[in-house]
Amino acid sequence: MQYPKHYDVVVIGGGHAGTEAALAAARMGAQTLLLTHNIETLGQMSCNPAIGGIGKSHLVREIDALGGAMALATDKAGIQFRVLNSRKGAAVRATRAQADRILYKAAIRHTLENQPNLDLFQQAADDILVENGRAVAVVTSTGIVFRTETVVLTSGTFLGGVIHIGLENSHGGRAGDQPAIKLADRLRELKLPVGRLKTGTPARIDARSVDFSVMTVQPGDTPLPVMSYMGSTEMHPQQVNCYITHTNARTHDIIRDNLDRSPMFSGKIEGVGPRYCPSIEDKIHRFADKDSHQIFIEPEGLTTHELYPNGISTSLPFDVQLDFIHSMKGLENAHITRPGYAIEYDYFDPQSLKPTLETKSIERLYFAGQINGTTGYEEAGVQGLLAGTNAALVTTNNPDYDTWTPRRDQAYLGVLVDDLITHGTNEPYRMFTSRAEYRLLLREDNADQRLTEIGRKLGLVDDARWQAYQDKMTAIDNESARLKALWATPSNDLGAKLTDTTGEVLSKESTAYDLLKRPQINFSDIASITDSDVANDVGEQIEISVKYAGYIDRQQEDIEQMKRLENTALPVDFDYSAVSGLSNEIVQKLSHVRPATLAQAGRVSGVTPAAVQLLAMTLKKHK
Ligand code: FAD
Repeated sequence: MQYPKHYDVVVIGGGHAGTEAALAAARMGAQTLLLTHNIETLGQMSCNPAIGGIGKSHLVREIDALGGAMALATDKAGIQFRVLNSRKGAAVRATRAQADRILYKAAIRHTLENQPNLDLFQQAADDILVENGRAVAVVTSTGIVFRTETVVLTSGTFLGGVIHIGLENSHGGRAGDQPAIKLADRLRELKLPVGRLKTGTPARIDARSVDFSVMTVQPGDTPLPVMSYMGSTEMHPQQVNCYITHTNARTHDIIRDNLDRSPMFSGKIEGVGPRYCPSIEDKIHRFADKDSHQIFIEPEGLTTHELYPNGISTSLPFDVQLDFIHSMKGLENAHITRPGYAIEYDYFDPQSLKPTLETKSIERLYFAGQINGTTGYEEAGVQGLLAGTNAALVTTNNPDYDTWTPRRDQAYLGVLVDDLITHGTNEPYRMFTSRAEYRLLLREDNADQRLTEIGRKLGLVDDARWQAYQDKMTAIDNESARLKALWATPSNDLGAKLTDTTGEVLSKESTAYDLLKRPQINFSDIASITDSDVANDVGEQIEISVKYAGYIDRQQEDIEQMKRLENTALPVDFDYSAVSGLSNEIVQKLSHVRPATLAQAGRVSGVTPAAVQLLAMTLKKHK
């Protein structure tokens, strides 16, 4: 049966990529359908219910600056908030929240159900119809045909999913959920470049069987952090503690003695796992000299006793899981509520995608999330937002943009997409601040200044967020101007107050603004001596822009140089073999990646600056 409504965008999959994709497209005015296996699992966190952390909170803030749902849902569901790297520089500071998984899902579902232009439908997508090289419809398991202008596929770990516990395995998309087998077969028929990856999760434990008194308590931060630019601490539910225990020599012996029963070590799993989130058996094998690993015992929610033991993800058989968990302090009598497991799934080589996340081979078909070889809710969410935005741009007649992808100097999203489409990946890709060359400019605190205005033009940012952003910018300008007009001298009142408050003695006059250049003086000192009443986030921006001015200016100069290359497009059908002087190896690599710009060509491994120069000259000749 053909469904009567013709959609602009059909999103397959209601995970983190799919929900942000559907919300973005609908916010932009596209008639959107979110088609997913199960409406009850919208926004479900397959692994630890935690959002943010180093590199990842930067992505969450970018989603938020563009009007997405993840950060606000975290503020409504977060039961422990911390700022990591708080003593280090602004570029690497990162907010992390442990969330109540039920509250998180409820917040996402509420947002989805109240989004105009968005319909939800529960059923498996088994087929994507392609006509004349273009995706035109999605067919469900019961034969319902949804005709559409564009399709965004965000099927996570579900395509051809196989779950492993010890040497036993079964088909599944994640524990308790069906896999997507027919769609996986169909995508293989469409000759999209497919590979296998794997990821894993630890056993869950009943808190009533745990002795917390022998563990180290880890409370959240005070003052309480907030994730969203539109969030507040009043949104947070009750806050709780996490705990820390450790593996020990006995734990390691138990695991080592049973490696032959691990599907990974016995060769049953072919897919490559996440390097930075390895299973405990992997850690013990790779770091054989370490006799202990820290394990965080984190609550899964306020209305459940289930705990997530962070750091012991495993696919060992259940009896081994039970033994090694019981070998740890405080967990001697732990009752396991769910065994840990590993899952293998299909992913697609992201080098086959355009910067918009549209596939190069099938027009109007976009891929986002775990199927592009990434791992993590945040990485998935931000890709979903990008794919949904570009899919919506096909039909919404935006006066400013035909397509949109941020540059590497604008957003971690730009870094992520450029890394994926340029280099591909053969292991699950996660974000780190070290992946960004302009990380002083890409801070979690300034994602709104980098993206909200663009989001407004794209139609992603609503009036309330736009107003709040403008108010904040006005407050920064006004407060900066006020501080630039206030002079402290060795002999005036302000100079005396400064010495009283901070112990700093002035030898010559300075504006209150310039005083922030001194490492010992922070905005709260200046606020107290000048009776400032601006919000903390306003003061923070002024302090960072003064303290890091030199470095920021230098990065801006580098970016201006790079922009010339970023702005030079390379046609998709560019004939690299016709450029005289390029080596065969470089011709092959460029023909495979088909970079969108000269700058991207320069980032393809093995492509030299001289080769980029040759390309630039060839392009000039053909203009
Ligand atoms: P998912 O969250 O997997 O969502 C996919 C959605 O698509 C689901 O709702 C599914 O029902 C739906 N769907 C799929 N196919 C179809 C279809 N044909 N028709 C209709 N609906 C469909 N991340 C980390 O950062 N660290 C970890 O340690 C970690 N461990 C993990 C362990 C396990 C066992 C699993 C399963 C995941 C783990 N992850 C981890 C990954 C994290 O869960 C994903 O990165 C994230 O959920 C990806 O989001 P997504 O939206 O791409 O896909």
